[in-house]
Amino acid sequence: MKTTPTNKKFPSTLVGIDVETTSLDPKTGEIIEVAAIRFDTKTGRVIDRYVELCQSRAPLSSEITAITHITNEMLTDKPPFSSYLKPLKKFIGRDTVFAHNATFDISYLAYHGLPITNPVWDTFALASIAWPETESYNLGLLYSTYVEPAAVPVNKPKKQLRLKAAAKQSSPKDTEPGQEHRAGYDVLLTWRLLQTIRQKLAVSKSSYPKIKHVLESAELRHYLPIFTIQSAPQTKTPPAPPAQPNKSSDPSSLTVENILGPQGLLTKQPHFVYREQQLALAQSVMNVFNNDEIALIEAGTGTGKTYGYLVPLLLRIIQDKPPASPTASRSVSIISTYTKHLQDQLFDHDIPQLLRLLNVDLKVAVLKGRRNYLCTGRLAQTLQKTKFSTEEALFLIKLIVWLEQTFSGDLERLNLSHQAARYTYHLHADAVSCRHNCPSHNPTCPYNVARYLARQADLVIVNHALLVQLGSDDSIFALDRTVIDEAHHLEDAARDATTRDLSAHMLAEVMAPFVQLTKKKDSPSHQHIVQEAQSIIDEYQQLFSAVAKFLTDQARINILRLNPSVRRSTKWQRIVEQGTGWRSRLQFIIGLLQGMATKSSEENKRREAISEAEKFSRNFEAFLHGDPNRIQWLELSTWSPNPTDHAVYLHDVSLSVQPSLANLFTSTKSAVLTSATLTIGGNYDYIKRRLGINTAQEFIYGSSFDYKKQMLIYIVDDAPNPYDPSYQKFLTKQFISLSKLTSGRLLGLFTSHQAVKDVYGGTNKELNKANIKLLAQKITGGRHNMIKKFQQTHASILLGTYSFWEGIDIPGESLSSVVIVKLPFSPPHDPVIDAIAEDEKISTFTSLSVPTMILRLRQGIGRLIRSQNDFGVVVILDPRFLQQVYGQQVISSLPPATVHIGSTDDLLPTIKNWFGEKQLEQWKSDLTKR
Ligand code: SF4
Repeated sequence: MKTTPTNKKFPSTLVGIDVETTSLDPKTGEIIEVAAIRFDTKTGRVIDRYVELCQSRAPLSSEITAITHITNEMLTDKPPFSSYLKPLKKFIGRDTVFAHNATFDISYLAYHGLPITNPVWDTFALASIAWPETESYNLGLLYSTYVEPAAVPVNKPKKQLRLKAAAKQSSPKDTEPGQEHRAGYDVLLTWRLLQTIRQKLAVSKSSYPKIKHVLESAELRHYLPIFTIQSAPQTKTPPAPPAQPNKSSDPSSLTVENILGPQGLLTKQPHFVYREQQLALAQSVMNVFNNDEIALIEAGTGTGKTYGYLVPLLLRIIQDKPPASPTASRSVSIISTYTKHLQDQLFDHDIPQLLRLLNVDLKVAVLKGRRNYLCTGRLAQTLQKTKFSTEEALFLIKLIVWLEQTFSGDLERLNLSHQAARYTYHLHADAVSCRHNCPSHNPTCPYNVARYLARQADLVIVNHALLVQLGSDDSIFALDRTVIDEAHHLEDAARDATTRDLSAHMLAEVMAPFVQLTKKKDSPSHQHIVQEAQSIIDEYQQLFSAVAKFLTDQARINILRLNPSVRRSTKWQRIVEQGTGWRSRLQFIIGLLQGMATKSSEENKRREAISEAEKFSRNFEAFLHGDPNRIQWLELSTWSPNPTDHAVYLHDVSLSVQPSLANLFTSTKSAVLTSATLTIGGNYDYIKRRLGINTAQEFIYGSSFDYKKQMLIYIVDDAPNPYDPSYQKFLTKQFISLSKLTSGRLLGLFTSHQAVKDVYGGTNKELNKANIKLLAQKITGGRHNMIKKFQQTHASILLGTYSFWEGIDIPGESLSSVVIVKLPFSPPHDPVIDAIAEDEKISTFTSLSVPTMILRLRQGIGRLIRSQNDFGVVVILDPRFLQQVYGQQVISSLPPATVHIGSTDDLLPTIKNWFGEKQLEQWKSDLTKR
């Protein structure tokens, strides 16, 4: 791509740096290798390098050696890092420095005696701008995904150096094993990455000044040379499905059998396997559509559920498609999913693939709720600020670059850190803002574009929360046929969509425009508003402290539902009194802003601020006085050990979502609700009750897997009670012996983070010695990266809580055993479950907790067998259910596997027997080769 140089000169030389260390914390860790390499930016070649190993006072752990490939022997005769300080400082000189995740390297160097004051470019931050949607900014992954395989240009090494491999390589795959994470090697990768980022950050003429303004206002102007102006404008990819053939097939020639049958079109596709259950499922779906019915369809893992409903749905759309008429009122077919992963899978892969195969041209769109979209109006307003923090600046530049690449504006597609995600609060589309700022429906706004495309589409993919709104009278289109996948989440998703939470942080956000609109003005009335806004925030803090005290006095746990008896208590009445007083102050300040004269340019902002504050006030009042149709509870968040960071949240959701679901089911012509887990003990009573469905067709399609042969479920019947002090020791011991037996390949499913932490702490050392990698939620990384590593590493174990019970699809030997630590009951005193049970006069435990647990358990067990060739074992370490009345319900809901109930002593011999000596030996020998 041609680019135009900007007024900031790109430095002629740069120094890349990297350190390998013994821990993540500079205060406790040591530097064991340092690399600084100088590059000529014109030729791209290495000019000079300084790469040294450094002595470590403490012996290296096997984990560090496994990560860095540096051994204790390699460091025996090396001087400590401190002896390199002077020559290293001299080597770096005054050049601009770059590093991947530079904060880490710079803080390490500073703590160990080498503060770097040069301009620093962080390629992690830059990559996050260049590829806003990519799933991971890990150096190796970025390199292998985006950097063109070409020789890393280095001169002949002066020393015998591990750079040797990188010097001659074309991509990391071609390099010698053991080089990854060595400091010199990583600098070379980072340099190639930086060159690619630079090409990617050629922006349009209109974006460049915005980026320049933000960088200068955040005192980050040293990043400016990275950005250039494109000579030719980039073309955005419209958010429509990938190119499809124009020619339309004759719809009458297409049937479900023609496509999914034993001689169907799909059998000619690689990897497609004809499945009787899939064809039967598709035929049932077609009948349901033809008869305008509602159906519940449970389809076990391996049935091929997605194509099973997609094929009949697409065929009906093709057959029903009216001749194009701009005036005709149209109804639209819908697929609703719970997870973004499934939504992306459908839109990016499955639907385009089927449309290509069928040789038809249908319009497919994705639509989400308004708040999922970036408001370009709010973004423009924010860019007018003259001061930004580094974090905010990088986030805003990411958005500017992103809008050059896509029409979508779907904030969920962005990969954002927790900190950056906070800034979206000010920037997402919002009904109040749209009403005040764009009354005539701004046609360039991402939300309006998404709605427009959805209205034109034949098939729209939505999430469950939006689906429920589409059933309402003011829906943007009439619903034709609807498929609800992952339907076991529908009730929760519908309820979550009714959330009206309140917190001190939200109040500060609501009050911020009051201060912004008035603080620069000198008049006493304006100053009065500023003071009032501040005192309202302060008083709310006091009120919240009183609420926190009330909560801790009343409840042993951090959650308290405001049921009628709590509300009647004198202490709560005092809070209501205090809260009512506070609310009148809020109403007073709203009145002041209503009466304030503003410049016409600020009028929209003023009206928006008033609307937001009124909404807060209304929700607060409803919370104080209670609403029989809503569930309201207090939660004290104690994530930080520091009590000053603790915060109280007021949660408020709808009690019953059945009326909205009923609207949905009556407004759609026909609906198919499907999932791998909808039944309990083989019947639909529970889910029908929860979703308010009286009459529906019911189908169960078992899995195409041979569970008897492929899966052993071992229930340990003599495990200690999980509340017994000996349980932790028992768990640790089982995890070590099971992991060693199968050389990793184990997924541990937990119900609490503390238990994950305890097992991680108890097994880490032993498993490291055995060369088994341990991945644990909230300890060793994010979910996505850990799952990827687990899949690639084979000899690893992965420990996680609720989000790991679903959505992990790892066929093959990497996942050969699943260990269930406790049955996945919701925590006791769940306010939503308690309130529903009270309202419906049903038993909390048997009517709600047990069925929910069984559905979750079935999901967890479902992680094991993902293909016809998979083979493995599920171990349940919590036998308490065997003695309970619901025990039989649990057993009858398990897949038809080989079930063994036995002692801890028999566990390993039984598993050995199940896998066979030969297989276990093979895995063991693979482990020693690592
Ligand atoms: S229509 Fe709404 S979301 Fe779109 S730019 Fe205007 S205010 Fe923002």
